[in-house]
Amino acid sequence: MYNSGVATKSGGKYHKQSCKMVGNMATENKLYYKDAVAAEKDGYKPCAVCFKK
Ligand SMILES: [Zn+2]
Repeated sequence: MYNSGVATKSGGKYHKQSCKMVGNMATENKLYYKDAVAAEKDGYKPCAVCFKK
């Protein structure tokens, strides 16, 4: 079960909203997705920190 995703325009990765990396992002660089599938459709890859299994 994923939280809704937050992607960075520059980074090519998406994160859970709870990821500590999200707090370091500039607001203007954030893109919000309803889920990880939607982010992946736009070519984003999961963050290795917050999507680590
Ligand atoms: Zn993350």
